[in-house]
Amino acid sequence: MNDDSLFTKCYKCQNPVEIKRQDRLSGLYCSFCDEWIVVTSYFSAIETDPNQYILTFQLTTLPPKQTLKTLKTLSHKLELNYIAIKNKIDKKQDFIFKGNAMKVLELVEILGNNVDFNLKVQ
Ligand SMILES: [Zn+2]
Repeated sequence: MNDDSLFTKCYKCQNPVEIKRQDRLSGLYCSFCDEWIVVTSYFSAIETDPNQYILTFQLTTLPPKQTLKTLKTLSHKLELNYIAIKNKIDKKQDFIFKGNAMKVLELVEILGNNVDFNLKVQ
């Protein structure tokens, strides 16, 4: 602490503050007052990744052990109804999904580990 600037000490108790990251917040924190002094929201790299991705994959069956809710989520994300999904599976056609890193990740989580993906930056 060689800098006596405003942000290295708590303005209330004059104790040194620490840099802290918690959940989606990042900032300076005073452990004596148990209070944030400076707070900025923090987003992980994946959430700020500006790239659009194209995810291509095939399904051999509907995702196993999935509930109806998961199928609905899948249908919603792919913008395909159940019949269209089933047809693509029967005809062994590729599913193509475009979206940012966050959306791609969500979809991969729904599909699970047994699916082969091909991921490209658009
Ligand atoms: Zn303080």
